[in-house]
Amino acid sequence: MKIGAHLWIGEGLLKVLNYCDYLKCDCFQIFLSNPRSWKRKKRDIEEIEKFIQEIKKRKIEPFVVHMPYILNIAVNDKNLRKNLINFLIKEIEESEKIGANFYVIHPGFHKGTGEKIGIENAIEVLKNFKNSKIKILLENTAGQGTSLGSDFKQLGYILDKINGNLGICFDTAHAFQAGFNIINFEKVKKSIEKFIDLSYIKLIHANDSKTFCGSKIDRHEHIGKGKIGIKGFENIIKDDYFGSLPFIIETPKLSLKEDKENIKILKKIGEKYGKI
Ligand SMILES: [Zn+2]
Repeated sequence: MKIGAHLWIGEGLLKVLNYCDYLKCDCFQIFLSNPRSWKRKKRDIEEIEKFIQEIKKRKIEPFVVHMPYILNIAVNDKNLRKNLINFLIKEIEESEKIGANFYVIHPGFHKGTGEKIGIENAIEVLKNFKNSKIKILLENTAGQGTSLGSDFKQLGYILDKINGNLGICFDTAHAFQAGFNIINFEKVKKSIEKFIDLSYIKLIHANDSKTFCGSKIDRHEHIGKGKIGIKGFENIIKDDYFGSLPFIIETPKLSLKEDKENIKILKKIGEKYGKI
């Protein structure tokens, strides 16, 4: 079991390594730039080379890039979708260039066109990346508003249709908010397996939930302080398959101290069940 955090990119790639060292991460996730902006800045080659070298030295794996929030891959406007594909091509090229292992994508919002059309729009976008070198991971969502991908039937359908280098990132808070009661993890696992082979799941976003099971409201909480609680995380970690995956926290933080505490809690559970 590897444990890491989503780290800030605001001060550049090399600064991320300092955070990683402070937290003693085995793996981590970043955005390439401000996730609420279409603007991208160019990185110089020395920065990239140094970063790749240092990641290898620290044996960080996986190193994950998360797509920016502004992209809605289920958008119904053809022109917007075209712009978005061009933007994603650059994102994915850059992620490959800086040595990332996974690129996490949210399945998007149908915004009133209905799930069926939304999913077909998302598939049209994702098809462009079916043969990408980097593995694309679709993240399950809380099902808030018109968001797609809160049920594994939908995610399984997308995986089947693309039939390429795609997998799943399992977010514990989103699953719980979508109605999967993590406390009874055996049951959750069975309902996922009905629609997708577990081997598609490559990464855990380890977040506790501020909101109740089935709330469809996406609010992350510190590990053990939310409605999933320590027991819920114990049930995930002691599972043979899930407990062998990398865990990356995306819990709220004002300082890295909070990440440190959350990582410590996950580590303790991992040690308790012989996963570390
Ligand atoms: Zn997540």
